[in-house]
Amino acid sequence: MLYNDYDDIVIYNAYRVKAPEGARVIDRIQLAIYNIEGNKMFTIAFRDGTHSEKECEGVAVFNEEYLRDPYRQINIKSKIGQTFMDFVSISGDIRNSGHPYLTLDEDTAENVTADSWFLVQLRKFLDLGIENEEFFTVSSLMYFLHISGLQIPAFYHELIYKKGKENTCLEDLVPATEGMDHFEHSMRAFLASGNKVFQDPLMTYECETIEDACIASLHFLITHKFHIRKCKNCGRYFVAYLRSDTEYCDRRSPYNVNKTCKEDGPKRTFDASVNADTVKKTLQKVDIARRMRVSRNPDNADIKQEYEAWKKSMRKMRDQYYSGGITAEYFLDWLEAHKRYNQDWKTK
Ligand SMILES: [Zn+2]
Repeated sequence: MLYNDYDDIVIYNAYRVKAPEGARVIDRIQLAIYNIEGNKMFTIAFRDGTHSEKECEGVAVFNEEYLRDPYRQINIKSKIGQTFMDFVSISGDIRNSGHPYLTLDEDTAENVTADSWFLVQLRKFLDLGIENEEFFTVSSLMYFLHISGLQIPAFYHELIYKKGKENTCLEDLVPATEGMDHFEHSMRAFLASGNKVFQDPLMTYECETIEDACIASLHFLITHKFHIRKCKNCGRYFVAYLRSDTEYCDRRSPYNVNKTCKEDGPKRTFDASVNADTVKKTLQKVDIARRMRVSRNPDNADIKQEYEAWKKSMRKMRDQYYSGGITAEYFLDWLEAHKRYNQDWKTK
């Protein structure tokens, strides 16, 4: 990478500028890179994998995300993709939402609103992928970034020794066979060590803006095949960690403060389906009764005409109900009020 092209980025040891205290040193290249203008670089790191040490419930799964800014001593741990899912789900005033991204990138935060072009595009992309997972492939993500003029922020892997294994010499684990050079010995030893020596690698993205943090999360979620969903109860985005067919998130239900969407959602959806069922049955009952009246009075033109007029109004109401224009309660009330033949129908 060539940093010389950028005026505001300095490679510290090259320019002999003292690094701020507590600044992060990138182990891989033994250099610390800082943005002099406001020091606003932060990182988002992910670790996904399994633990070799069995816990009582079986294998422990790593599912961690770290948002870090050493300058402001921000170090937030959550589940993979959680801060991103929360961010894209904010409705209303983003600036007062208290979301950690806003602290990490105050410059972008000043201008970001629910209608920000980037957020609108991002939500559209998520909706496409939720509808058809083919959109959640690396190539689709690349195309989305390409047409949006965006890039995946720089990222790197870090291998970290497990506690107590810091001084392990991998090559001691397996003997070198004849003709095996050091590189091959080392690689074979790494493979043989399984996950006894190193933790699952930590993937760290270097971010400068909220967009970077969002794209980093999306990139990690897609490359690691996480399932992104939209909660059927609250409408917010979430990651379905355990089952791809999960329909509700673990957040507090907006309809019941004492329950999560997972607890509240199925019951509410059930209530809604009961309502839909009730509407269908009531409508059938009223229609059958009215039709019977018409067939029992074949010589009464008034009854037949009243029925036709009712049917026309009923269809209008039914369409409005199915399109969501009126509620089940409203439609049921209307059906109740127009249950029987109404002698005054002509004057109405
Ligand atoms: Zn929810």
